[in-house]
Amino acid sequence: MSTDLASAINHQVRLAARPLGLPRDGDWRFTEEPVALPDEGGVLVRATHLSLDPAMRGWMNEGKSYIAPVGIGEVMRAGGIGVVVASKNPAFAVGDKVSGTLGVQTYCLVPAGHIGRSGLARIDTKLGSDTQWLNVLGMPGMTGYFGLMDIGQPKPGETVVVSGAAGAVGQTVGQLAKIKGCRVVGIAGGADKCRFVVDELGFDACIDYKAGSVRDGLKQHCPGGVDIYFDNVGGEILDTVLTRINRKARIVICGAISQYNATAPVQGPKNYLSLLVNRARMEGVVVFDYAERYPAAIAELAGYLKDGRMKSREDVVKGLASFPAALLRLFDGGNFGKLVLDVSG
Ligand code: NAP
Repeated sequence: MSTDLASAINHQVRLAARPLGLPRDGDWRFTEEPVALPDEGGVLVRATHLSLDPAMRGWMNEGKSYIAPVGIGEVMRAGGIGVVVASKNPAFAVGDKVSGTLGVQTYCLVPAGHIGRSGLARIDTKLGSDTQWLNVLGMPGMTGYFGLMDIGQPKPGETVVVSGAAGAVGQTVGQLAKIKGCRVVGIAGGADKCRFVVDELGFDACIDYKAGSVRDGLKQHCPGGVDIYFDNVGGEILDTVLTRINRKARIVICGAISQYNATAPVQGPKNYLSLLVNRARMEGVVVFDYAERYPAAIAELAGYLKDGRMKSREDVVKGLASFPAALLRLFDGGNFGKLVLDVSG
């Protein structure tokens, strides 16, 4: 063990309790333990940037989902970027930059049998910065790419509406839909986010759902109706968009952040009969289903970043201690762009 690693401490954030509603400080426990070196086939990663995601709220709940809940007492699950600091695996060398499920901690020991499950992969820093690897080139970008391309199936001239437009997934969806020749209307909270989406990301329009009626905004900006709705928020906004869809519209159910902290059972969309009338369909997307196709999507999106057709915005918060408060930003719109925790310091 090198002297540095011999004395290194892993700082961690563990799930202490299952929240009711918004997570509170008492739902987390900060722990520290000495760093352990990998056995044969394992890798030790020093985390630099962690991804804070709305899905984390779901992982804190008991119950069946597309992935097992985080157990009480376990290190909170998180994707991240880091540097290999010790390796007994020929596929990873000390100094390699990697992405994977690192957890909310400063060091992640990935044993031989967990390399695949943790999605540990070397990243090419020539294609994008660390934070872009958690945004457009990472999980949110892959979600936007496959949700839009495989489920939305955009055609030139169609009208695409995307909620959470200034956020991580929304940025990729809207810009990609523009590249594919669509008219794109975002929905976001606040004048600054709407301005960013139109002026910097090149959307055709953006509806500020906090300032006025989404219904009026859709009438104004989508006079020919909506062909694809990429839904990141669920709730009333989904219900409203359902009243404006065209025949054969596709609704991509990516997320429903407005419902994640609800203490009452989630209500289904009231206006679902619009699907019948319009011969439309609504389909969920889970990004992990597309893992084998990530390399092709990353190559395409990296090309757009390089030639300037796509921009990315990340909102970086410093320090592991900031995790509980930073996570809450996702649920009140306090983040402006992909929320990232910098734990490199
Ligand atoms: P994000 O958009 O970067 O951040 C969350 C944003 O949600 C906030 O900034 C806020 O933006 C908006 N929001 C929060 N509460 C809201 C409410 N009550 N009504 C309307 N908007 C609200 O987050 P992200 O990482 O890109 O995730 C976006 C969605 O995609 C989430 O629902 C997430 O769960 C989902 N997702 C799904 C998959 C999948 O595989 N299915 C993968 C990744 C993400 P405003 O300021 O505009 O309100």
